[in-house]
Amino acid sequence: MKIARTVKELRKFLEPLGRERVGFVPTMGYLHEGHLSLVKRSRAECDLTVVSIFVNPAQFGPNEDLDRYPRDEERDRSLLEKEGVDLLFLPSVDEMYPPGFAARVEVPGLSERLCGAFRPGHFSGVCTVVLKLFEMVRPARAYFGLKDAQQFLILRRMVRDLNLPVAMIGCPTIREGDGLARSSRNVYLSEEERSIAPVIYRALTRAADRIESAASPLPSAGEILAEVRSTIESAGPFKIDYVQLVDPETLCDLKEARLPCLLAVAAWLGRTRLIDNILLGLDKGEGS
Ligand code: AMP
Repeated sequence: MKIARTVKELRKFLEPLGRERVGFVPTMGYLHEGHLSLVKRSRAECDLTVVSIFVNPAQFGPNEDLDRYPRDEERDRSLLEKEGVDLLFLPSVDEMYPPGFAARVEVPGLSERLCGAFRPGHFSGVCTVVLKLFEMVRPARAYFGLKDAQQFLILRRMVRDLNLPVAMIGCPTIREGDGLARSSRNVYLSEEERSIAPVIYRALTRAADRIESAASPLPSAGEILAEVRSTIESAGPFKIDYVQLVDPETLCDLKEARLPCLLAVAAWLGRTRLIDNILLGLDKGEGS
């Protein structure tokens, strides 16, 4: 596996190869099976797989966990090597944001909803770094997890709106045996918190079963959401940011539980913010 730390090193390796062969998996590192599932998919579909690890300051708010975000470069490198990754891009903050850097990419509308309402500027930071990475790596295909469904939908919109020649591939959420969505932030959880965290997915699946089996009249969104909320809150000291049932294209709230829909939760458990979702009635394969 080649390592590039600068754009110059990256381009030197990729330039002769041509864009059509390259699959790309952007990450913030501290890798787990969720990340590796994206790598495996890229390896299966592309001639060459590039992974980036960059903890992007632009997508963290001033009181968020940028400083304590978990990092382990050595372990990540060996995991990626085992997966047969061709090139790992490990840029520094200065390489990505040199002095005087000012540009921002915004996708208004989608970016203020769900997590955006609680993390102002977050999705602009994500879009800005992903557009930069796309320009540096110039992939034909890019792989993202649907665990971060809003992120995927916003990035897909950015790619469409800006005519970027990248196929956006949304991949299913990888979970622990008890249903908890894999996340680098799960290491923040205490033993007790870890044992109650899977209630989020249990509440989501129960609601999803109800939505999928509903006959007319359809249940109201309010009814479904109240049940999800009470299941989560009765399991432990969660502080819920939101439980929402939205249209997966517009992310606008639905009044009735109809398909397709995105049922999404963000909740704090102690110092850890957990997010999870279920996408219903949508082709979860190719996102473009
Ligand atoms: P992160 O390192 O958290 O920025 O995530 C990098 C990529 O991995 C994003 O596209 C995430 O959506 C994806 N990802 C993170 N966790 C999971 C998971 N449990 N299942 C599938 N994809 C994931």
